[in-house]
Amino acid sequence: MMLPDIPMDMILEFLTGLLNTPSPTGDTEQAMAYVEQAVRDLPLSVSRTIKGGLVLTWAGDTTRPRALTAHVDTLGAMVRKIKSSGRLELTPLGSYDWHSIEGEGCTVVTASGQRYRGSILPIKASVHVHGAEVRTLERKQENYEVRLDAVTGSQELTEQLGISVGDFIYLDPRVEMTNGFIRSRHLDDKAGVACIYGALLALHQAGMAPLYRMDALISNYEEVGHGGSVGIPGDVQELVTVDMAAVGEGQNSDEFSVGICAKDSGGPYDLGLRRKLERLAGDYIIPYKVDTYPSYGSDGEAALRAGADLQVALIGPGVDASHAYERTHRDSIEATTRLLVAYLLAE
Ligand SMILES: [Zn+2]
Repeated sequence: MMLPDIPMDMILEFLTGLLNTPSPTGDTEQAMAYVEQAVRDLPLSVSRTIKGGLVLTWAGDTTRPRALTAHVDTLGAMVRKIKSSGRLELTPLGSYDWHSIEGEGCTVVTASGQRYRGSILPIKASVHVHGAEVRTLERKQENYEVRLDAVTGSQELTEQLGISVGDFIYLDPRVEMTNGFIRSRHLDDKAGVACIYGALLALHQAGMAPLYRMDALISNYEEVGHGGSVGIPGDVQELVTVDMAAVGEGQNSDEFSVGICAKDSGGPYDLGLRRKLERLAGDYIIPYKVDTYPSYGSDGEAALRAGADLQVALIGPGVDASHAYERTHRDSIEATTRLLVAYLLAE
C-alpha cells in the first residue's frame, strides 16, 4: 500500500501559526482554539476535558480503538514579585535553566488582558556598569528579572500598570525557517501537534480513514507532568504519544528522522507497540532512530500513572537544544507524520 501525500506546506503553515500563539502551561486556551479552528473541515468530532484538553475523535471500527496525544502547553514564566525598582522577579513554568531565557523578549499579560512587552535579563547585565561581575553572576531565580518596556521605576508605578503577582509571562518564540530547518522555542511539542494535524489532514485529503476509531488528545499541563492523566477514552488499547526526540551529545536521535523512544526517565515503553512502529517505519522506508532519553517524561506516562491500562509508545520529531532555543528540520516532521499515517492505516 502507498501512503498518501503529506501536505508539508500546510503542516508548516499550521506549525508557524501555532508557534506564534502563546500557550505557557496553565494559559493554553488561545492555542487550543487555534487547533480547533484548524481541524474544523476534518471529519472529527471535538470535545474538551474539564481541565481544558482537546479530544479529536475520528469515528470508526471500535474493536481496537487507538489514541494519539501531543501537548500544546509550553514553557513560560509567571510574575513572582514586583521589585522596588519596578522590575519583575519571575518564577518558571516548566523545567528549564535560566541561561536559556537570558535576553529573551517577553510579554506580560495582566488580569484585564492588557499586554506589556519586556525582556528577561540578569540583574547585572551591563559590563560597563558591573564589570567582571556579569561573568560570575550565579544563574538562579533572584538574579533574573523582567525589564518592562513601560515607564516605571517603582513597585507602585508597575502596580498602576495593572501588573500583579501571578500574571503570565510569554517567552518570544522567535520562529524562523531556513533551508528546511525550523528554529523556535516551543517546538516541544507544537511540532508534535503539527504532526498529528498533518496525519489527519493527509488521510482526509486522500479520501482515506484510520482503520479503527481514533482519538487524539491535544493536552495541556504536560510540562508540569499531568497533561495526559485524563482524556484518553477508557476503551482505547494503544496510545502513541507524539513528543520530541531528544537530540544532542550521546543521543542517537537527529533532526531528519522520526525518533522512536525505547526508554525514558519513566522506564521502557511498550515493547510490542514499539516493534510495530519500527516495522512500519522499515516497511515504508521512513527514516527513524530508536533512542533512550535520559531526562524525560511524557503524557503517555502520565496516562499510565493515572491508572490507564494501555500499550503506550512514544515517537516524535528530533529537537536540538530542547527547552532552550530549539531547532528541528522539516524532514523530521515529515517522517513523524508518515509514521503516524502508516500506523493509523495498519492492522
Ligand atoms: Zn514535550
